[in-house]
Amino acid sequence: MKEIEQIKKYALENHIPIIMDDTLFEVNKILDEIKPQKILEIGTAIGYSAIRFSKYLAQDGIIDTIERDEERIQQAIQNIRDLKLEDKINILQGDALEILPTLTGPYDVVFIDAAKGKYPIFLQEALRMLKINGIIIADNILYKGYVMSDYNKHKQRTAVRGLRQFLKDLEENPNLETKLLEVGDGLVISKKIAE
Ligand code: SAH
Ligand code: MG
Repeated sequence: MKEIEQIKKYALENHIPIIMDDTLFEVNKILDEIKPQKILEIGTAIGYSAIRFSKYLAQDGIIDTIERDEERIQQAIQNIRDLKLEDKINILQGDALEILPTLTGPYDVVFIDAAKGKYPIFLQEALRMLKINGIIIADNILYKGYVMSDYNKHKQRTAVRGLRQFLKDLEENPNLETKLLEVGDGLVISKKIAE
């Protein structure tokens, strides 16, 4: 039988950007507290984080997870099947920008972990579908230090610009209580305290 550690090893060896251990530790603490009924994940890759999160779901809870890369989708499907989690993890295939507007939620947790330049759009969609007291979690927010530096010529500047805008949107939103943890590549935890 396949085990989660094998999926992790495969991802690391094949440069698939899975959630880092210290980041996962923080997310797990939150999920353990909430015991979510419904999680939305933007960016499945090969299913590693969704499989980890599934352990904290309420009974009959589910994870909707979005991925557009055909090869990764096939690997995620296989991994989820191997771990017998088909009834808990639902892969939505296609571009999140097209899929998100078709969803209604409501979700207890939204985990944002896909195209960094699109985080501001993902945030709007997440807020629309998040329950009161629901949590937005976003990975890679510091982007290897580029987001907080004054360096603007990096080839990843679309990502950096998107992440800076995302942080500004969070900060300026009175309905959110946001904190930034310097674990992994930077983690945002934001609670929706009002509609
Ligand atoms: N959450 C995963 C890692 C996700 S890596 C884990 O921790 O295990 C980010 C993934 O987002 C990549 O596989 C990429 O193909 C996908 N992605 C990026 N932009 C996307 C978009 N606009 N729509 C759907 N998937 C996207
Ligand atoms: Mg990530």
